[in-house]
Formats: sequence, structure tokens, C-alpha cells
Amino acid sequence: MASRMLVTMALPYANGSLHLGHMVEAVQTDIFVRAMNAMGKEAIYICADDTHGTPIEISAAKAGVRPEEYIEAIHLEHEADYKAFEIDFDLFYTTHSPENEMHAGRIFEALKADGAIEKRGVEQMYCPTDKRFLPDRYIRGECPVCGTKDQYGDSCENCGSTYEPTALKNPRCAIDGNTALERRTSPHYFVRLSKYQDFLRQWTATPGRLQPEILKSLEKWLSEPLRDWDISRDAPYFGFKIPGEKDKYFYVWLDATVGYLSSTDHWCQEHGRRVEEFWKSPDCDVVHFIGKDIVYFHTLFWPATLHASGWSVPSRVHVHGMLTVEGAKMSKSRGTFLNARDYLQAGLDPEWLRYFYAANLGPGASDIDLSLSELKNRVNGELLNNVGNLANRALSLIWKNGGRLTHCVLGDRIREIEREIGELYSRCDTRAVVQKILDFSSFANQHLQAAKPWEKLKTDRDAALSDLTYAVNVARLCARWLAPIAPRFARGVEEQSGAELKWGDFKPLENSEIREPKPLVRKIEDADIEKLKSKFVAPEAPAAPKTPEIDIDQFGLVDLRAGKILAAEKVPRKDKLLKLTIDLGEQTPRTIVSGVAKSYAPEELIGKSVCVVANLPPRDFGKGLVSHGMVLFASGGAREHTVVELADVAPGSKVK
Ligand SMILES: [Zn+2]
Ligand SMILES: [Zn+2]
Repeated sequence: MASRMLVTMALPYANGSLHLGHMVEAVQTDIFVRAMNAMGKEAIYICADDTHGTPIEISAAKAGVRPEEYIEAIHLEHEADYKAFEIDFDLFYTTHSPENEMHAGRIFEALKADGAIEKRGVEQMYCPTDKRFLPDRYIRGECPVCGTKDQYGDSCENCGSTYEPTALKNPRCAIDGNTALERRTSPHYFVRLSKYQDFLRQWTATPGRLQPEILKSLEKWLSEPLRDWDISRDAPYFGFKIPGEKDKYFYVWLDATVGYLSSTDHWCQEHGRRVEEFWKSPDCDVVHFIGKDIVYFHTLFWPATLHASGWSVPSRVHVHGMLTVEGAKMSKSRGTFLNARDYLQAGLDPEWLRYFYAANLGPGASDIDLSLSELKNRVNGELLNNVGNLANRALSLIWKNGGRLTHCVLGDRIREIEREIGELYSRCDTRAVVQKILDFSSFANQHLQAAKPWEKLKTDRDAALSDLTYAVNVARLCARWLAPIAPRFARGVEEQSGAELKWGDFKPLENSEIREPKPLVRKIEDADIEKLKSKFVAPEAPAAPKTPEIDIDQFGLVDLRAGKILAAEKVPRKDKLLKLTIDLGEQTPRTIVSGVAKSYAPEELIGKSVCVVANLPPRDFGKGLVSHGMVLFASGGAREHTVVELADVAPGSKVK
């Protein structure tokens, strides 16, 4: 085990405010770093704003400021929000830095020297009025496969096909709506990622690097040759110029991840250290925390570029789940979208949210749900009434009876509990950490309840004070184990009990003065929850469906059948599609393709009885994949698509 750690979370994009989803990652990473430091490692927590790219360049132009001014204002806002949530970075920097330009350039040169860079022409759509090439998100048009209108340049929301922007039918510029677009060819730089395929196979498969479910998804990508990665963009662009080029810039994703390295370098310069101590030393583990959406960048591109340029590759990439709010995707249109700032402005305590996130986050990548009633119940019932109450009750009674701790015996079990908690923190299983602490605190509360020191004070003062001293010491242990999660709560216990909390110290605090106890946590009132709810972006009323009426005979033309899903698998290179094998009571099962891979893992669908439109003409998805029918899904649920399930009905039964 290395003695040092360099820990990062994903760099927030400097094109908007931080929302409560960003805070899941910031809190999880912060807890991890605090726990590692408490246990005696040197863990440095580095972050920065991700500041480059077309969206920022365009937003700044719209706001009438230079991109530099635009990102500076966002940086101040991000910094203040993180601070309010007690995110204790060693450095919160920016990717628009001289260090980052230098390191990005060096990494590019190293890739070139390694023979991994290729320059070739790319045909793109060009808007003559905006005088710019239109990347994926800046062009809209009709899907070349299914004809759905108003789709982005990279993929169709309806059928899930992915394609090049040049394939869109009737394309228009998403910036000014111009339809008179041109095709122009421009040379681009590519990284031949397949050159590092063997290295990546080995790196990903090393135990401890990735969570099992993430490794599984990578194995699919790695089972076929990795696609080349386009790392250049044409002017106008906000970013770093590619060395030796006039109008070409590094694609934001190249220098964003380099931001981890270059920000560390900046921190090292300010602290008299060398970047090699962290990024070129076997005695340092580089650990990244990220969300599910950027796994590809962090587990394929990034390790390959580090490997090619001689830096340490990450020891571990930890992926967390996404945040849903009240059971639904965080979305402005659903009224479940909350900025970090809204939470603060509603007057809620950031530590409540830290506690809630920690109590819900496990070691895996499952999504977590912010239910406001659960937030209230857990904070009030656990942090306040269990651990907080133990400390407050015991300290208050001691304060009224001389204000001095006497003596107690803590027992040996606490060493074992601390060791277990340490391991759970290392695995990012804070859900289990919280449970362990609550169990221990409940046990001490029961002990106190049975011993009744408040009655015994009149008859056996020594025994009563010893019971209370024991309770204070248990509360101190719980507070130190909770400190990475709820640092202010822990500081309160530390100050009121009168001595520092230290990991690894198992001697009870005895024969010493305490200070005047004060409440450690405020209770969450219904009014708090109401105030928070009022900050939700108001949902737009869904438009009444405007479909023409049909008569019953027309409906009768649709052949709806019950089908049973026998098999489901992802479709290579089509990240929205699932290939389903469905028993419709016919001689052979049918293949049906559904664009729902973002909503369901294949195994979730296997065995379900579903409703199938059985008389659609076959649809060809290319490469021999033909769909014979359509499975019905509903929108408006927690997932983008929710499968319409039929209770036990034999395959082939008619649905009328
Ligand atoms: Zn345009
Ligand atoms: Zn389509």
C-alpha cells in the first residue's frame, strides 16, 4: 500500500451552476479523502473547473464577455458552493492554466513520438453565417434511419441509431437556424487508441482498479478494436492551440483530464513539492471519482495517454450512481431540479445532505434517490436522536453535576469496530459505515436508558457519573468515525467534551473538564422541506396530447400480442439499442430491437411478459440486424422508458 494518495473528482464544467447531483460526487470524494487522512495517509484532494470547448465559447459570446471573464465568474460561484458544503479541496483550480497548456502539449508530443497520432481529413458540416464547423450538438435535422425530426448530429432519440452529423437529412445550424450549410473537409488529429488495447485490457483487469460492474461494461468495449479518438477542433474554439497549428485546438476532453495532473503540478509548486511525488511514484496511488457518464474517457482514453507519456496510471477509478430526486430523474421539466445554491438559500444545513448522501451511498454504482421525507427522517431519527442525543444527554447531565468526566471502561471491541469502519471507508461503503456507527450508538443509548444515571445521581453519584462518562466516550468515538461525513458535528462533540478526537486513540477521556453543551444538530422541520420544495424549478404542465382521433376499426388494424422476453443483449456500437428475443407463441422467437438501452440493463428485461406490436413491417438496422415488431414502453416514469408489463399471459395472446 502506497503512503500517499492523489484523489480527484470529475472536473465540473464551467458553463453553469452546480446542482445537487454534482454534490453527490463532491461529498463522496471529500468523505473518502477526509477518512484517508484521518487514518494516517497523506491524501491530497485536487479539483478544477473544466473550462474549454464550444459550449463555453458560445455562452460567453451570448453574455457579451470574453470566455476568460465568463469562466472566472463561474469559478467564483463554484468555489463558494463547494465551500458551503464543506468540500475541503487542497486545490480548486482551472484547466485554463499555463501548467495545463504545457502538460497537454507534452502529452500530445509524447503520443506523437509513440506513433499514436494520425492526421487525416474529416468532412463536416459548416455554417457560413456563423463561420464555424458544427459539431454534434450544434447541428439538428432528421434522423437518417427513421426520419424523426429535430435530432442532434450524433444520435437519434427515437430509434437510438448513431451516425455522423453529415448523415442528417435537412440539417440546420443549431445556433442560428441556418439551413444553407456547406460540407467542408478539414484535417483532424486522431489518437489511435487501438495501439494501447493490450495495455488497457491489462490495466482494467488488474484487481482493485474498477468496480466489477464497470469492468464488465468495459470488457464489451475492449472486445473489439477501439475506435480512433478525434482530439482536435477547428477555430473558433476556446481552448489550447495545438502546437504547430494556426487554427486548430485540442478538443476539450483532451485537456480536461490533463487538468488532474496540471492542477497537482500547480499545488506542488505552491507547497514546495514535486509533481513526480504524486504522478510518477510507486508510493502514491492516483484515485479518480467519476459518474457513470464519463467512464469511457477515464478508463480508456486517460490511462492510455498517461501510459504513453510516462506518467503513473490511475490505481483506481471509482464510479458512483446518479442522483434522482423524489424517485424521478433530476429534470427541469419535471420540477425535480435543484441547484446547490437553491438548497443553501432555502436555509437548509449542508451537513444534512452530506449525512443523507453518505447514508445512501454504497461501494457500487447504483443510483441514489433524494427523498425529502427520508432526508428528514434520517437526519432527525439518526444523526439528531441517536448519536446527537447520546452526546447531548450525557454532556448536559455532567455539566449540571460538576462539569467533570470521571472514569469508565470502554472495552476492546472498539478497536475492531474502528478497523472495520476504516475498511468500509476505503471501499466507499459509507452506507455501512453509518449503520455501524448507529448500531454502536444505539447500544450505548440502551445502556444509558437501563442504567438511569439521572436517578442514580441521588443514590450512587460515582456510578452515575461513570455511566455518563462512558456515554460521552462512546459519543466521542461515534463522532470521530462520523467526522469525514459530518465534520461540523464532530467538531461540536470534540469542543464540548474538551479534547481532540483522534483515530487510533482507544484510551477513554477521563478526569477532565467538559464545556457547556449546546445542540449539535438542528432538527429538520416540515417548514424546511416546504422551503426546499418551493425552490424546485416549477414543472411545465405537459401539453395535452394532440393526436388525431381514430375509429375502432383503425385501432383493430394494430395487432397487439403478449410476448415473453427470452433473451436481451446490447448492440455493439449502438449504445441506445437492445436486441430482444421474444416468444410470441410462434414457431420461432422473433428478434425485436428497442431503443431503451439507457433505461434497462439487458438482464432486467429477461423473463418479462410484454406487449408487442406484431404486424409492423421488418426494419433493418444494418449489419444483419432486422427488427420484427415493436415492444411498448411508457414515458414519464423514473426511467426514460418504462416497459409495459402484462401479468401472466401466455405468449401470443391477443391484447385488445
Ligand atoms: Zn449558423
Ligand atoms: Zn431515428
